[in-house]
Amino acid sequence: MSVLGIHHVTVLASDPQQNVDFYAGFLGLRLVKQTVNFDAPDVYHLYYGDETGRPGTILTFFPFPDAARGRRGSGEISAVAFSIPPGSSGYWRARLSRKGIPVSRPVSRFGETVLSFEDPDGMVVELVEDPSTAGAAGWAGGPVEAAHALRRLHGVTLLHASLAPSESFLAEGMGFAASGSEDNRHRFLAANGADQARVDVVVDAAAPAARQSAGSVHHIAWRVRDDAEQLEWRPRLRRAGTTPTPVMDRRYFHSIYFREPGGVLFEIATDPPGFLVDETVGSLGTSLKLPPWLEPQRDVIQRDLPVLVLPDLGPARQVAS
Ligand code: ZN
Repeated sequence: MSVLGIHHVTVLASDPQQNVDFYAGFLGLRLVKQTVNFDAPDVYHLYYGDETGRPGTILTFFPFPDAARGRRGSGEISAVAFSIPPGSSGYWRARLSRKGIPVSRPVSRFGETVLSFEDPDGMVVELVEDPSTAGAAGWAGGPVEAAHALRRLHGVTLLHASLAPSESFLAEGMGFAASGSEDNRHRFLAANGADQARVDVVVDAAAPAARQSAGSVHHIAWRVRDDAEQLEWRPRLRRAGTTPTPVMDRRYFHSIYFREPGGVLFEIATDPPGFLVDETVGSLGTSLKLPPWLEPQRDVIQRDLPVLVLPDLGPARQVAS
C-alpha cells in the first residue's frame, strides 16, 4: 500500500494580501478557495492550485498578518518545488528578475534543472524543469504564459540532522522508494507514473532546530483514493511508531495527521470531495466559503478578516462558469 502522491502542502505566512498578490498575481497559481482555518477561524486558509485544485497541485497558506519570520532549520520542510515545462527556466529567471526577486543560477539535481528563490515571507520555492509534466495543463487563466505555467507540485525537501529515522520510516512506514543520493541529499519517490512526487531528505547535523512562523512549511499531505483507504492507514501508521489523529472533516477532503520521526507533520488526505463541493469551476476562490458548522458565525468571522483584493487579470482571462 502506498499513497497516490502529494495532495497538498500547507505553509504559514504573514500578510494575506501579499500572499494573494504573489501566488495568484505573480506565480500564476489559481486561488481556488478562500476559507478560514477551521481550528482557528479568525485566520484565513487560502488554497491555490490548477483550474479546479486537483490533488497534487495544491499549495495552501495560513496567513497571520503580523507574524514574524520563522527560523529555518532541521526538523521541517525546507523547500517546496513545483514542476515547470522543460526549457521554461529562462522565462522564470527573467520574470523573477524583472520583479526584483533574487533567483539562483540554474543547477542540475538528479538530472533536472532547478531554480530557487524565496517568497515574500522567506519560504524557499523551487522550480524544476520536469519532462514528465508534458501532459499537465497548469492554470492558463493567470498572468503567466500558458507554455510556462507551474504544472503541479514536484516534491518537497526535508531538512534533518540525521537520515536514519526518517529513511526507515519513509521506506517502510510510507512505502516510498529510495531513488539515490547526491551529496547530502537523499531522494525518495512517493507513487509512480504521472503523479510521482519526490521527497528529498537533506542531512545537516549543524543546522539549528527550526522555529515555525511566517515562511515555514506547516505540513505536507499525501493523497489516498477514499475514506476506506484512509482508515487502512491508521493501524499501519501506529505499527510504524506514529500516533495518527482521528479522521477530521476538512470540507474539501478528510484528514488524519501524524509526525514522521524527524518531527515533520504529515497528513493523509482523501481525493474526494474536492473544491467543487461548494463553488462552480468559474467562481472558485472568488468569495469566502465557510463549512456548514461555521456558517452561523459568518458575520463575526467576515468582520474580523482583512478584505482581500483579487488580482485583476483582465476580461480576456476570465473563465466562463
Ligand atoms: Zn493539510
